[in-house]
Amino acid sequence: MTDSYNRTIDYLRLSVTDRCNLRCIYCMPSEGVQWVPHGDILRFEETVHLVRLLSGLGIRRVRLTGGEPLVREGILDLAAALHALPGIDEIHLTTNGVLFAPMADPLRQAGIHGVNFSLDTLQPDIFRRITRTDQFAAARAGIDKALEAGFPSVKVNCVLMRGINDGEAAALAALAKDAPLEVRFIEMMPIGCGKGYTPVPTEEVYTALVKSFGKPNAFTTPLGSGPAVYVSFPAFQGHVGFISAMTHVFCARCNRVRLTAEGYLKPCLHNPAGTDLRTPLRTGMDDAALTALLRRAIEQKPARHHFTSCQAGEAMETRTMNAIGG
Ligand code: SAM
Ligand code: SF4
Repeated sequence: MTDSYNRTIDYLRLSVTDRCNLRCIYCMPSEGVQWVPHGDILRFEETVHLVRLLSGLGIRRVRLTGGEPLVREGILDLAAALHALPGIDEIHLTTNGVLFAPMADPLRQAGIHGVNFSLDTLQPDIFRRITRTDQFAAARAGIDKALEAGFPSVKVNCVLMRGINDGEAAALAALAKDAPLEVRFIEMMPIGCGKGYTPVPTEEVYTALVKSFGKPNAFTTPLGSGPAVYVSFPAFQGHVGFISAMTHVFCARCNRVRLTAEGYLKPCLHNPAGTDLRTPLRTGMDDAALTALLRRAIEQKPARHHFTSCQAGEAMETRTMNAIGG
């Protein structure tokens, strides 16, 4: 379906839990967060029910996210059930990679098409500082395992922060030199704990990469349906992408909505507005009425985010990123 700005909405980011096995400094506060009570989290049959209705409205691709989606029990069954839904073309996964390697083959068999790994550093001590855990080796191993297991799409998402990992752009980009995968630099956004750190602008990352690898072959058209712009450096097997949420607003091309683990449909990452679907689902609303509710929720998607120009009184998202799903 299209929203009120005539954007086609065909992509759902589905958060299956707010829980996580890491504590990334830009995502969760050191004192921890109040977890959503278990009873408030959608059961898998409720999730599948909503995704089935959304597929009727034109959602074609679903990304499982969280929190960490691989800590949710039964995730393989959920992936398989979503994969089996008519109208859903592709299921993808976004993960920190720590639990991925032993689950790679079953995830592939369950129908996961692509995996995005979040890895912001190749140095174990900086990994410890960013994630407040010691699990670099497992996270790094996940990427190799995904390539070995034959996932058609493997991406590595990197968020650079001034003074923490801003010197690692070339080392991270080189992952795409050595293997057929996409490395994407995502500008950190001032959401939740992200407000406490300084993002590194795309232009600065690009300049550092040209210095290390030479001029890229060409800017390619987007490889997927997302907001990244890609380049290919000489002798690279894969590509390098840039998602410049702060310095280049791409909201005019936005194709997505988000469903949180507690069943709240969020049309925009930045904006707290949304629609509770869990209550109507649990109080027996029929599919026609639920579909009308979903349609209205999507139609209300705002024109753009206002990270850099928030007006006085304008609502700004206060949830932490683990509760939204990125
Ligand atoms: N746990 C999984 C992971 O880390 O890939 C999935 C959920 S995590 C919230 C999804 C993505 O959000 C990660 O790539 C993470 O780097 C990103 N993220 C979290 N906080 C962010 C922020 N303030 N700005 C930009 N990206 C952020
Ligand atoms: Fe967990 Fe992902 Fe947030 Fe890191 S970014 S704390 S891995 S949810």
